[in-house]
Amino acid sequence: MDLKQYITIVPDWPKEGILFKDITTLMDHGEAYHYATDQIVEYANEKQIDLVVGPEARGFIIGCPVAYALGVGFAPVRKEGKLPRETIKANYGKEYGKDALTIHKDAIKPGQRVLITDDLLATGGTIEATIELVERLGGIVAGIAFLIELSYLNGREKLDGYDILSLMSF
Ligand code: AMP
Repeated sequence: MDLKQYITIVPDWPKEGILFKDITTLMDHGEAYHYATDQIVEYANEKQIDLVVGPEARGFIIGCPVAYALGVGFAPVRKEGKLPRETIKANYGKEYGKDALTIHKDAIKPGQRVLITDDLLATGGTIEATIELVERLGGIVAGIAFLIELSYLNGREKLDGYDILSLMSF
């Protein structure tokens, strides 16, 4: 299935010069969303995943159905101030802004094999911060899966040494 036909490119959003890749038109389409999820599940099946971890909000959209299919849990990574219990924090920069991400301190048990998911790899800042959180809690990043990779931003270089799947490249 050609997944690219379900991605809508929105020029100059959220600011001038950004070509925003809108995945809601893929999510809207049951068959495409199912197919994309299955591709990631197939990738994860070989990696003995114990837990899926994804950054808000679109990392949840990709990660939760994958966790359900694998029969494992999902731990959310959220912006500062959103998680109710004790957290650890990592700072990061992204294609259009700066922020901090947090995860509950007890979300990962040391030695757990983690699959990280997000909708899109741009500069890699978001996933770099997510990796930092997982590893600080003793998790092993067994794989990282995206729907989309913006290859012209070279985010993959930041993630050198990690096993990465992206279903589409722009
Ligand atoms: P980065 O940290 O630069 O890799 O940015 C990745 C995050 O920002 C992802 O979670 C995306 O949801 C979002 N993002 C960055 N650039 C774009 C883009 N051009 N289109 C859609 N989402 C984007």
